Amino acid sequence: MRALLPLLFTSFVVFAQTPKVQEAPLRAHLAFLADDLLEGRGTGARGGALAVAYLESQLRKLGLKPLQGDSFRQEVLLDGARLRKNQSSLAIASPLGELPLRFDQDAVLSTGQVKAGLTFDAPLVFAGYGIHAPEADWDDYKGLDCRGKILVLMVNDPPPTKEEPSRFNGASMSYYGRWVYKYEEAARQGAAGVLLIHTDSTATYPWSVVLNSFSGERFQAAERRGNPLEGWITDAFARRIFQAAGQDLEALRTRAATREFRPVELGLRLKGNLAIETRRLTEFNVAGLLPGTDPGMKQDAVIYSAHWDHLGLAEPDKAVRGDRIYNGAADNASGCAALLAVAEAAATCPARRSQIFLFVCAEEQGLWGSSSWTKHPLWPLANSVADLNLDSLNILGPTRDAKASGHEHTTLGPLLAELAKQMGLRLLPPEPDLGGGYFRSDHFPFVRAGVPAVSLGSGSDFLGDAASAKEKLKAFYARYHQVKEEYDPSCDLGGMVQDAQFALNVGLALANSRETPRLLSRPITGK
Ligand SMILES: [Zn+2]
Repeated sequence: MRALLPLLFTSFVVFAQTPKVQEAPLRAHLAFLADDLLEGRGTGARGGALAVAYLESQLRKLGLKPLQGDSFRQEVLLDGARLRKNQSSLAIASPLGELPLRFDQDAVLSTGQVKAGLTFDAPLVFAGYGIHAPEADWDDYKGLDCRGKILVLMVNDPPPTKEEPSRFNGASMSYYGRWVYKYEEAARQGAAGVLLIHTDSTATYPWSVVLNSFSGERFQAAERRGNPLEGWITDAFARRIFQAAGQDLEALRTRAATREFRPVELGLRLKGNLAIETRRLTEFNVAGLLPGTDPGMKQDAVIYSAHWDHLGLAEPDKAVRGDRIYNGAADNASGCAALLAVAEAAATCPARRSQIFLFVCAEEQGLWGSSSWTKHPLWPLANSVADLNLDSLNILGPTRDAKASGHEHTTLGPLLAELAKQMGLRLLPPEPDLGGGYFRSDHFPFVRAGVPAVSLGSGSDFLGDAASAKEKLKAFYARYHQVKEEYDPSCDLGGMVQDAQFALNVGLALANSRETPRLLSRPITGK
């Protein structure tokens, strides 16, 4: 029998002898999943299939239970689309002549309705931020009939003002600022397409990120119905479009930051065709159940999640000294390795509630695996106590702090702070979320579905001297999402073990408690 140690602040309890996450298995899983043999665990690729087979056999080995018959897999149907650039051509027709769109240079384009061929002859309309938010008394559409039209939109959300310092989450990005939302709303309005104007400051990343993320093959859930045309244009190209229309883009941007803004017909048409190489495929989420021990509580489950996919193989022309493999050692071989090590420790000491270890697919493609789980859950959402997500853990060494992104939107704060303290760590307070990171990992579909969810990881207060820690972080971010994001056997996994232990401690505290955390605020997610 293990003694129960009640905590003072709530009725949450933790076992006095919490099982310990071991570094050896964690390191072994990381080395395997980040190996060149897995070719970057691409979606629809052999390396991804290997990762799925590995995760499945590990869950089986740990004695976890499948959630669907005898299968640890959940099918996720995806559509892949790749623009055939040499067979596609688009131009803006204006009274002054034609403005051709040079693929990759001026525009990165795809489709939200995966079809082999798309033809366009459609008027362009500037619709500001493309936000329809009745609860914020904000509507950029003002009753515009969007059918058959291409919307030119700004990314991000209207900045705060002196009178309204907290509109659209103030300095942090709200969901209305995400390009994902812009596409969703435009599709609801029935638009023929969306061209998002890129700027470094509004996107919060440079054009190269748009190019790397969207110019190759992209996948989306087969059940998604987006806009026929979806893509980005550079700021420079946008200026040429507005000039051709005799409009002042800067003046329109200023107007778009007010409620009075009305959509502006640009008097230009987008003409041409896109040829798309398509394929439909089945990917897999992998999930294993550790049943709860208390007959009255085991219908409730704590979910731990980590995405297994990364970017796969780079196009040959993007190879760096012959290396084409996006190993994604941190993103997210680290989260999967930690989750397997957490599962191994948890399995030695089942809790009163059930625990589910969920490895989702296609995160890098738009959170499709986790979205698919929350749309077709293999465990009822009403009985899902919380989702603890692990994404891009720290492979640089132990820190004095712990991070739980999004905890401020839940009642989990006091528990997280107390459990961090018991590990000698400080829980990082919420920081302004300028780039909308909160909406960009697999905890978010859970939040959207009403389940309290956070992404756990380390902070940046590394043990040892601050200057060398800063250097380490800088070097790390230079490799992040590049082919050089590799596993190095000499790397210090002390921070990752710490992250994994923190996740387990939080999971066990929730799984041994009768308390159910809540979301404090449901971020506005459109209708
Ligand atoms: Zn990730």
